[in-house]
Amino acid sequence: MNLDPCVICFKHCCSTSIYCKQVPAICPVCNATILEYLLEPFRLPNPFVNAREYPVTVVLRPSRGDFLNDYTITDDLHIGVVDSKGNIFEYDEPGVIRNDFSSWLNCLAFNIVPESWSDHWDTTIQKISNDKKWSRQNYNQDSLNCFNFVLEFLTQLNYSGALFASKEEFCESFVIPKFQDALKFLTLYRRLKYVDHFCGNYYLYLPA
Ligand SMILES: [Zn+2]
Repeated sequence: MNLDPCVICFKHCCSTSIYCKQVPAICPVCNATILEYLLEPFRLPNPFVNAREYPVTVVLRPSRGDFLNDYTITDDLHIGVVDSKGNIFEYDEPGVIRNDFSSWLNCLAFNIVPESWSDHWDTTIQKISNDKKWSRQNYNQDSLNCFNFVLEFLTQLNYSGALFASKEEFCESFVIPKFQDALKFLTLYRRLKYVDHFCGNYYLYLPA
């Protein structure tokens, strides 16, 4: 399920961006054969990554399913921490879960600290994941959940650029800016994906 979603963008005769999975020979806007571009085709960077390949990050995914195929805006999100070796830690109903790699193939990863903080990052996540506080018995969907686990981790980490009083503060600083870009990508990807079956190559035009 680790897809490699492809969305290509180019401009031909005007400022309209054309999105597609494969660059056509004929411009869908002006119907002329494409000899040169106003903007050369380029592939939009896929914002969704395999968590274990993104060490020393905080990672986010839908609680159920994955972003590319299942996510809708009302779905709950789940958050975890990746250490410098690619081990993934998360807190959920069963307590602290380590290295459930297959659930994290398609997530958003947030860089929080500079590289020099890696050792301290690892020590801190080890310490907190062994703390009895994060047990199955203590889990509460509303008051002691995956977000509390990550916020407490960041508090203990004590990096000045990443101290948050609440989940909302954390989301405002890190999640929302990246999330908005990711949603744009997701919308384009899905529209291209679903129409493709019926129309062959399919194009979307968006004004610049
Ligand atoms: Zn054209």
